Amino acid sequence: MEPLLDRLQKSHALSLDEWEALIRNKEKIDREVLYREADRVRRKTYGDKIFLRGLIEFSNYCKNDCLYCGIRRSNENIERYRLSKNEILNCCRLGHNLGYKTFVLQSGEDFYYDTDKISDIIRSIKKEFPDCAVTLSLGERDKKTYEAWFDAGADRYLLRHETADKAHYRKLHPPELGLDSRLKALEDLKATGYQVGTGFIVGSPYQEASTLAKDLYFIQSFRPHMIGIGPFIPQSDTPFRNKEPGTLEDTLFFVALLRLLLPEALIPATTALGTIHPLGREMGIKAGANVLMPNLSPGEVRDKYLLYDNKICTGDEAAECRNCLENRIGKIGYKIVNERGDSLIPTTV
Ligand code: SAH
Repeated sequence: MEPLLDRLQKSHALSLDEWEALIRNKEKIDREVLYREADRVRRKTYGDKIFLRGLIEFSNYCKNDCLYCGIRRSNENIERYRLSKNEILNCCRLGHNLGYKTFVLQSGEDFYYDTDKISDIIRSIKKEFPDCAVTLSLGERDKKTYEAWFDAGADRYLLRHETADKAHYRKLHPPELGLDSRLKALEDLKATGYQVGTGFIVGSPYQEASTLAKDLYFIQSFRPHMIGIGPFIPQSDTPFRNKEPGTLEDTLFFVALLRLLLPEALIPATTALGTIHPLGREMGIKAGANVLMPNLSPGEVRDKYLLYDNKICTGDEAAECRNCLENRIGKIGYKIVNERGDSLIPTTV
């Protein structure tokens, strides 16, 4: 194997310059060998198990205006919705019957759901489903709020850093958002005791080998429990509507690198990966991913949480989705399990 990849596998760390060199030379790397290695490493940690997370997209209101995102506040072409606590619980009931042991509550940054409202929803889910983990993905809040939600029973938090390069971060986000506060939120989450997920968009506009090297280097030092990456997909109502999408090959390449970097991380084969190629999620799993996040949102709102164009599974019934995935994953030699699937990396507290 390529000497830098060899080093990565042995020491799980590269210098920033080495990351950049590796990424600049990505076309020269034998992908079959890389994916085989990543798969072997994952089989040593999590075996052939694929964990499911039931995704509940409970609000598409957002106070932010991220230039890539279809639910940004300036998009006037989407119908906004919010789910009630009972509607959210109904999604969990459906998911629990289908064997899901993790529910992911995701939304835009919608402060209608204040600290207490979310705490109440978390408590109700944990009371009815004590065997399940609750993951939050609600964006940036203050540390006190993160602590309150943790005390209410939330187990995990997903907050992608999006890009670890300050200047690049500014090109993707409105002026009121900055990388420092994103990273501070990630530190707060970790210090609170959550299993924390971060990640970046592959092929986002203005991304370069140097910014990607910073992404990998940041992940190497932060050591998240979970890492979510997916290709950039333009959304037709955003300023980035005409930008080039990220590629399947690049996304698989980074999934595999992340698996070699953090053998014990939970890495999803994301919906965005399944959107750019019909077999994208299967290929993601073969390249080292071990999590799938099917949609549990009610059918009537699914086509409104449009972060990007042509998102898959906006019409499927949740049950069909589950059965279909079970078959697809079985065919490629892995096993979907009804387990919580906690990270092997210990939490801070
Ligand atoms: N408000 C929450 C959830 C954001 S949506 C938060 O701030 O964390 C989840 C993820 O979708 C984002 O973190 C972003 O990385 C991704 N995303 C948004 N728009 C996208 C696009 N056009 N293409 C690919 N990924 C996108």
